[in-house]
Amino acid sequence: MSYIADTYKRFNLKFVKGEGCYLFTEKNEKYLDLVGGIAVCALGHAHHEFNLMLKNQIDRILHVSNLYHIPPQETLAEKICKISFAEKVFFCNSGAEANEAAIKLVKKHGFTISPLKQKILSCTNSFHGRTTGALSITGQEKYRKDFGSLLPDVDFVEFNNIDSLNEKFDKNVAGIFVEIIQGEGGINVIDANFLKEIRKLCNSFNAILVYDEVQTGIGRTGKFFAYEHFKIEPDIMSLAKALGGGVPIGALAGKKKFMEILSPGSHASTFGGNYLASAAGCAVINIIEKHNILDNVNKAGEYFLQNLKALSEKYSFVKKVKGMGLLIGLEIDFPVSEIINKLIENKVLTVAAGEKVLRFVPPLIITNEEIDFAIKKLETIFKTF
Ligand code: PLP
Repeated sequence: MSYIADTYKRFNLKFVKGEGCYLFTEKNEKYLDLVGGIAVCALGHAHHEFNLMLKNQIDRILHVSNLYHIPPQETLAEKICKISFAEKVFFCNSGAEANEAAIKLVKKHGFTISPLKQKILSCTNSFHGRTTGALSITGQEKYRKDFGSLLPDVDFVEFNNIDSLNEKFDKNVAGIFVEIIQGEGGINVIDANFLKEIRKLCNSFNAILVYDEVQTGIGRTGKFFAYEHFKIEPDIMSLAKALGGGVPIGALAGKKKFMEILSPGSHASTFGGNYLASAAGCAVINIIEKHNILDNVNKAGEYFLQNLKALSEKYSFVKKVKGMGLLIGLEIDFPVSEIINKLIENKVLTVAAGEKVLRFVPPLIITNEEIDFAIKKLETIFKTF
């Protein structure tokens, strides 16, 4: 019997150690990790420099209340602002929580203008988290269906459909949530024209544009933030996952004028941006910058994508190779669970994005040799289908 609640279907694997892009079991079996804690372990496992910075922080101080100034939190906020459009940051502990903060901010913005301006738009096929608010704006029925009534005044625009967007947008929209690349939804990249139209409508209707960069942020797509590829800035954006490199932290970053909507007392988080989490965030950004890791994301991402494209041409059941940087999806015309299991037998870890997309979100430090190994194993498996 397990004392763990049954919210996860788990693979029969127990890892006790990690090193770079590899994980090791109790029996010292070595697995190539192309999951990276689902786009969390940007620096891989047991990164020496990262761990030293964490240990240094642990030995000084771990936590005080946000009633006081927390120097590493201030440093991290400044770093996030310096590498993005943002001017202020609120810290919390996860992606869902960052989106909850964004939902409250959007609601308050609308409510201040008119009690009718409460509508939140999101996209079909989106994923924004499992808490009640974040779930309410998640555009996939499978996650919502068992929970009855969720947040009111939420509507879904068809992803990448400008007509649907125009149809749903009106003066009662307080804000819209957008993923630049839908991660859980199957690695779907947003169309530039769709995004441009969203920005335009937000400006015309005084609605807040929220980018959910929880999965795409902190270097995953080859730039610090995925929106940079499109040169269209949001008003606020949510972050988590890779920001702490494995230490839980979430953030809502945005323009001062919008972030100030969350005035003292209107939102809070006990743990948000504590010393350890903030030190982790600072270390992740420092190390990415110092070692030019974005350059590796671009080169390794392109190498991975090209190799997958070559593979896809040989096997007709591979429908599409999609993504950017090291957020890559392989769309297959049958459920990918069988491939994931066979890859595990071959000591390679991958994760699904929806039923028919095999997702690769490895540590951002992955090498071409490691990619070669993964491609070789994939080909071995594909030959058997
Ligand atoms: N938003 C996006 C785009 C995500 O991919 C996820 C998690 O997969 C979340 C929000 C939720 O993040 P968390 O699991 O940290 O609450």
